[in-house]
Amino acid sequence: MRKLFVLLVVTLVLSGCSSSKEYVAPTSQSVYYEVFLASFYDSDNDGVGDIQGLISKLDYIQYEVGASSLWLMPIHPSPTYHKYDVVDYCEIDETYGTLDDFKALMNELKERDMTLIMDLVLNHTSSQHPWFQESIQHQKNNTCEQSTYCDYYNFKNTLDTGYTKLSNHLYYESVFWSEMPDLNLDNPLVREEILDITQYWIDLGIDGFRLDATTHYYGENTEKNIEFLQWFNDNVRQQKEDIYIVGEAWTNETVILEMYASGIDSFFNFGFSGNDGTIMKKVNQQKGYELAQAIYNYNETLKSINPMAKDAVFLSNHDTGRSAGYITTLDYQKLVGSIYLLMPGNVFIYYGEEIGMKGSGIDENKRLAMPWGDLKGTTINPSGSDYRNEQPYTVNDSIKNSDSLLHHYNTVIQWRYTYPEIVTGDFKVIETDQKEVMALEYDSIFILHNLSEESLTIPWEHNDINSLQGKATYSNGELTMEGLSSVVIIK
Ligand code: CA
Repeated sequence: MRKLFVLLVVTLVLSGCSSSKEYVAPTSQSVYYEVFLASFYDSDNDGVGDIQGLISKLDYIQYEVGASSLWLMPIHPSPTYHKYDVVDYCEIDETYGTLDDFKALMNELKERDMTLIMDLVLNHTSSQHPWFQESIQHQKNNTCEQSTYCDYYNFKNTLDTGYTKLSNHLYYESVFWSEMPDLNLDNPLVREEILDITQYWIDLGIDGFRLDATTHYYGENTEKNIEFLQWFNDNVRQQKEDIYIVGEAWTNETVILEMYASGIDSFFNFGFSGNDGTIMKKVNQQKGYELAQAIYNYNETLKSINPMAKDAVFLSNHDTGRSAGYITTLDYQKLVGSIYLLMPGNVFIYYGEEIGMKGSGIDENKRLAMPWGDLKGTTINPSGSDYRNEQPYTVNDSIKNSDSLLHHYNTVIQWRYTYPEIVTGDFKVIETDQKEVMALEYDSIFILHNLSEESLTIPWEHNDINSLQGKATYSNGELTMEGLSSVVIIK
């Protein structure tokens, strides 16, 4: 009788019950959707995405994708299209909208029980920031005794790596670009400004910050970077106890793990991301068991440094080539999606990834217009982008097609919400007799991924299977999984 029940469940899954798909409310704010506003949705027909456009697409993000949270790339006034050089930390860039639009966005998100984190760029400002303008004026005129802004940035009398010449015998630090002067983060006045900025956005209802370029705060001085992050964490957490802070430390795994000593909730897991990362490496080698061990070990180490910390997992972001560029078939995109969307901690989907959007090479190509499949709302690509192909899929098509990557992402995210133990990551790695199989045991479920392209059968003696979800069958103590598929077994 039990076997018959299992078969019935499997048949339902295989015949595509997505038409009767039920919405599972998030049980954690653990699925983030990274939005580059300029390329997302345009509400006023000027070709640039904006806050009102984002508001009109929240249904898509919440229900079609299934995300619980947003990460907004910088929205402050800035002379560049990407806005990672801020001119005013307490305003909204006028192409994106107004503070009232932002308040409306926050209200909408609260209604939906969604959260928002915003990019906070503290390593540098724009060269057009009034702080910098005031600073260089007094530095040049040797009138620093008249201004407290002189020491907001780092000046030297001799040329050094990462410095830009201002005048004879006067240079300022600008590690990324001459128009992005580095802030002097040792200056107590700068630190006061930072806490004013965080308080300002916390008062407007935001839930957290994504900290840009944390490994550059003090050059590559990890100890000083950690010290600063610890100061930031301690102080901002006093402003809002349950603030979520995730740092970008685009460096090797050892340094990323070290930085967890700062107390910051998360650092992006660069080692597992991208075409050369651990996930793709193990998928390409079909080594499921090794991938399971790598995930286990990484999370154990991270928790041993900060027991409250959570991993921040992603495939690609605005600085990297899009994942559909290196994961070339839909079946592989689904498998890799399942693997990372079911990892412990928080997961970050870069807008468009869920429909297999492409773009690589120069930065502008990584931030292309979201292909809605409709002229209305679609933005103009960033100026300078040289991506000339059509996007393989549009949002409209992906919504209509029940076999799309979008529907797959949604299904897997619903699993994540249904079994909250996936987020906390309390699991054991199970060794099966197939090295291609990645198998994890949780309290109430097992999760298995078959990294082989072939269907695989493994002996299953861990429990009596009452039901399972995914492309698999169970009979006579054996579990057969289709190639490149994922299964949740409910205990
Ligand atoms: Ca617009």
